[in-house]
Amino acid sequence: MIRYLTELSMDAFIKAARKVPYQNIQSELFPGIDLWIRRDDLIDPLISGNKSYKLIFNLLEARKQGRDTIVTCGGAWSNHIHATAAAGQRFGFKTIGIIRGERPLLLSAMLQDAERFGMELRFVARSVYRERGSPDFLRKVGSFEENFWFVPEGGANEYGAAGVQVLWNVIDETKPKDFDEYWLACGTGLTLGALARECPYKGRLVGVPVLSAQDAITQEVARWASVDGNQRKLEVIGGAHHGGYAKVNSALVRFQCRLEAITGVPFDHVYMAKLAHALAARCDEVHSSKDAKGGKSILLVHTGGVQGRRGLPQRHPG
Ligand SMILES: *Cc1c(COP(=O)(O)O)cnc(C)c1O
Repeated sequence: MIRYLTELSMDAFIKAARKVPYQNIQSELFPGIDLWIRRDDLIDPLISGNKSYKLIFNLLEARKQGRDTIVTCGGAWSNHIHATAAAGQRFGFKTIGIIRGERPLLLSAMLQDAERFGMELRFVARSVYRERGSPDFLRKVGSFEENFWFVPEGGANEYGAAGVQVLWNVIDETKPKDFDEYWLACGTGLTLGALARECPYKGRLVGVPVLSAQDAITQEVARWASVDGNQRKLEVIGGAHHGGYAKVNSALVRFQCRLEAITGVPFDHVYMAKLAHALAARCDEVHSSKDAKGGKSILLVHTGGVQGRRGLPQRHPG
């Protein structure tokens, strides 16, 4: 059954988050572990995955302060742009998306959706976009609106982090068992970092960056975690990005197809397939090592991104 977030309120949001199902996955792809997946891709088909958690407090605050426009930024395949556009349409905000790069002749499927949801797209040169962290970025790109609320790229602000803490509380409340490890894909690193704030007293968090800028992501994770001394509860796995953001190779695509066939769960090639692939590699490694203990229970958090599957290159190298 498809569920939608129909109301902009914390109560309604938490109710929806509590209904997110967990699924047990038994497959030889992940030998020696008890694997579960939390399906946050199902919290809403359009305001999906971790982006919904990062948006909720931003939207509530914008509403409280009477702001009628949400301004944000991202690339042509940004799940955050997609979710923000959908949320604006659903809850009655005007939305403006500042998009990296020149406007292409043919918009990506994701940006077509965003326009269809009513978002105004403003394309800016990459050299300008690079300054998105600077205080006068919005003035520079002419997007300093009358009465707007700005959400940084990827939803990475304190309101976003607060939403991720809601995610942890809900996981803690609804999880089918105590997990030894919680695995998730990292873009900005906010979701992993903010979860680490609420660091499970039992269990560790493992993040898999899907970009090659691993060191920067690790730093961001630490910054968002902002808690000293819990590093041993936190691991960032390098070298699992398959060539960089949204890059794929045939081994990854084959793995993704197999995984989807086995589990019936949709995995995108940008985030979730790379996450699962890194986990499978770790399982193989541990399983075939001499001191394999096995029996670890692991929760994979499905952070969404399913709409991004449309960006999978039809032909891929290798
Ligand atoms: C954005 C995104 C992430 C990364 O979240 P961060 O908080 O930026 O690290 C992970 N998975 C999916 C599907 C995403 O869309």
